[in-house]
Amino acid sequence: MICQACGIEAPTKYVSFHQNVGALVVRFSKSTEGQLCKSCIHKHFWSMTGTTFVLGWWGTISFVITPFFLLNNTIRYITCLGMARVPTGAHAPVLTNEAVERIEPHAQFLFDRLDGGDPLERVAAEVAEMSGVTPGEVVLYVHEAVQGESRE
Ligand SMILES: [Zn+2]
Repeated sequence: MICQACGIEAPTKYVSFHQNVGALVVRFSKSTEGQLCKSCIHKHFWSMTGTTFVLGWWGTISFVITPFFLLNNTIRYITCLGMARVPTGAHAPVLTNEAVERIEPHAQFLFDRLDGGDPLERVAAEVAEMSGVTPGEVVLYVHEAVQGESRE
């Protein structure tokens, strides 16, 4: 619900993309993974897959692994095509004092649910509805609370 690449609040999906650049003897690979929004998935897929497609083949190991990288990236990408796009005007959530005040009355419920093992995503959506803030703001609230606790 918060994109781990660009930070905006939008529908996200877990992806992992791999890039390989073969340079005969050595090879350079990198990967991107996390919960990303559709725009970032698109951007990372095309840049990493394009680079691999052009530069991935040079080297024995590279020649063997490059098809797998391309296949993995393409399959991941295809499963993301049905995702909701990033809403216009989507922005990174900011935890304002007003949002904190709204969430506070539901904090007990929120942390009880999380302690009970409910996924943050679902609990955040429920609490957001109850308190009239966005799910992203609830997620930030939880992060702040957890960080505050570990500092004490
Ligand atoms: Zn993003």
